Amino acid sequence: MVEQEHTKSGRFMGWYFGSNLLMRILVGLSLGALVGLFLAFNPGAAAPYVAYTKFFGDVFIRLLRMIVVPVIFFSLITGASSVTPHQLGRVGLKTMGYYLATTAIAVFIALILAGIFSPGSGLGMAGDAAVQGKSAAQTPLAKVLLNIIPMNPMESLAKGDVLPIIFFALVFGIALAVLRDSDNADVAKHADSLFHICSTIAGAMYKVVGGIMQYAPVGVFVLISVVFAQQGAKVIGPLVFVTLLCYIGFAAHVLLVYGGILRIFGFSFIKFIRGAHEASITAFVTRSSSATLPISLRVSEENLGVSRSISSFALPIGATVNMDGTAIYLAVCATFIANAVGAPLNFEQQSTLVVVATLASIGTAGVPGAGAIMMLMVLEAVGLPVTTGSPVAAAYAMILGIDALLDMGRTCLNVTGDIAGVTVVGKSEQQVDLSKWA
Ligand code: ASP
Repeated sequence: MVEQEHTKSGRFMGWYFGSNLLMRILVGLSLGALVGLFLAFNPGAAAPYVAYTKFFGDVFIRLLRMIVVPVIFFSLITGASSVTPHQLGRVGLKTMGYYLATTAIAVFIALILAGIFSPGSGLGMAGDAAVQGKSAAQTPLAKVLLNIIPMNPMESLAKGDVLPIIFFALVFGIALAVLRDSDNADVAKHADSLFHICSTIAGAMYKVVGGIMQYAPVGVFVLISVVFAQQGAKVIGPLVFVTLLCYIGFAAHVLLVYGGILRIFGFSFIKFIRGAHEASITAFVTRSSSATLPISLRVSEENLGVSRSISSFALPIGATVNMDGTAIYLAVCATFIANAVGAPLNFEQQSTLVVVATLASIGTAGVPGAGAIMMLMVLEAVGLPVTTGSPVAAAYAMILGIDALLDMGRTCLNVTGDIAGVTVVGKSEQQVDLSKWA
């Protein structure tokens, strides 16, 4: 969307804003890698280069950090208050149960894969004593859970403590949903206005994200070139590896989890994929669950026979909150970053990761690149904050450089999961036209 608008108004620096953002980021990534490699073999030039260009990379990291708290806060309030308590009846509970359970399983699959293959280890981007200290001094699990409840939500917002912010936003959103449904017309009207204000603020925040992403090619170029200048060619392998690992996670989740659940409900997996593939492919190329929603609605009804009453309720919620692919990406890549900086996640951090990645995926908007913003808060929550100039920021930049590739796969899984969800929930409510499956 942002790209198109820039194309339309592409007079100022039209050559830049008028061209495809994805292409620009990939160009930034490749050029950054080339320049960095060149510098790696000319150590004399590397140090002054890093000193002079660091600023431009730091600008990018700071812009991203600036947006995290407002994005999570307002998109979660909007998400939670868009489901009316009335809708949250039996079908709602089943749908939410399916969404939550599959997302938590997704994180487990990711952690198992990451545990077996240790992506990023051996990269040796450490050198930050503060990072090591932080992970060693992790709080026990019970305390982590207790800390999710903020004692002062305003303080959490000001300090950027993500888990308490998520908790408060969800509670607030649910309360707002109850007010919107109030019998008192006045109360309902005002609550509705507040809902629309929050949703507009969330929309504005995503516009800001879109604007920041226009700077991404420059930011990625600088950050990647610095990483390559300091680490040399040895970083290419781990990046290819982490991409592969994410895709193995995506494939395992589709086959084992969706395949298994569909089987239990008596559906053929092959027929499901055949029916849903148009939406899955659209998700892959658009990298947006929201943009794919019209297609998801159509294939669920026309190809899979799910009644409109179920799909028109559950799919929009799914496109907003059910992000299994994003959850896998968050868990695999957070592990990659932790290993890359020489601070592998311990058991407590992994437990925190399960909770945080599940919640963060719920808070991720269905737009391109949203998961990468959520990664910042996941890292913060596991004690690896992305601060300017830190090894964590460098490792994060590497992941950001390949985000488009990862986003395609995770969005495809996100949407496929939504459609599998409505199919099984529909079946449990006898709301699937089984003649479509014959
Ligand atoms: N692009 C993803 C989606 O729309 C969200 C993400 O970036 O993880 O589902």
